[in-house]
Amino acid sequence: MPMKFPTFRSRQAGTAEKMWTRCPSCEEQLFNKQLEKAMFVCPTCGHHFRLSAPVRLGQLIDEGSWEEHDPGLVSVDPLGFVDQKAYPDRVAAAQLATGLRDAAIWGTARIEGQPLAIVVMDFAFMGGSMGAVVGEKVARAAESALAERLPLVIVSASGGARMQEGTFALMQLAKTMGALERLREARVPYISIMSDPTTGGTFASYAAMGDVNLAEPNALIGFAGARVGAGTIGQELPPGFQRAEFLFHHGFVDRVVARPDLRREVAQLLRFLVPPEPVHG
Ligand SMILES: [Zn+2]
Repeated sequence: MPMKFPTFRSRQAGTAEKMWTRCPSCEEQLFNKQLEKAMFVCPTCGHHFRLSAPVRLGQLIDEGSWEEHDPGLVSVDPLGFVDQKAYPDRVAAAQLATGLRDAAIWGTARIEGQPLAIVVMDFAFMGGSMGAVVGEKVARAAESALAERLPLVIVSASGGARMQEGTFALMQLAKTMGALERLREARVPYISIMSDPTTGGTFASYAAMGDVNLAEPNALIGFAGARVGAGTIGQELPPGFQRAEFLFHHGFVDRVVARPDLRREVAQLLRFLVPPEPVHG
């Protein structure tokens, strides 16, 4: 099903005609049109703004190649969970704000002509939290990648498991890992792209398990927050701990890739990792 990508500005349509965005890193006022042209990377300091899933797709894949799968999957409320708001109300508000059904979309597409299955998460949807829908989409993408022998790319942007789904959310860790393990056994490549932030259960499951793990500059990546980590080991943590560059220097991330280079980098990796079609004859 072809999908129209909403623009960065159309998502902000509810907040009047905003023309400028302040960079949270260098505080420069940036003209939105210019920011969009710069792939939402601050031209002054290089800060990578968080992207909506449709904008991310628009930057990565070949135009017109997107075919979304399972767009109709929606969360149920298995626990009848209510905090300050009932869980279904939170989901409805997030759907209204983002135009998405849940915190991830998946489909098939092409990058520089090469076919792939791709999952993209959206942090704006309840902190990119992984509940049953996100887990199911990741698992189905991996299963479809296996059946079709298509490389899999997952772009993560997530605070972790969705607490409103409790154990059902935690079960997604095992489910997604099982699907990825079958992919690995069949030697179908999986590239993980970690954007800011990739933490909690998402990091503890599929996000860190790529055959190649890429990260965007300065992305926050890790399991528990720095305070919990320091408390657990009873030691001060080094500066920059849990940032993409730190993880790269310690061998956890294979490459830190600036956003303008990401599409080319993934295309090149796909050419390395995907064997050419066997010639029958
Ligand atoms: Zn900046």
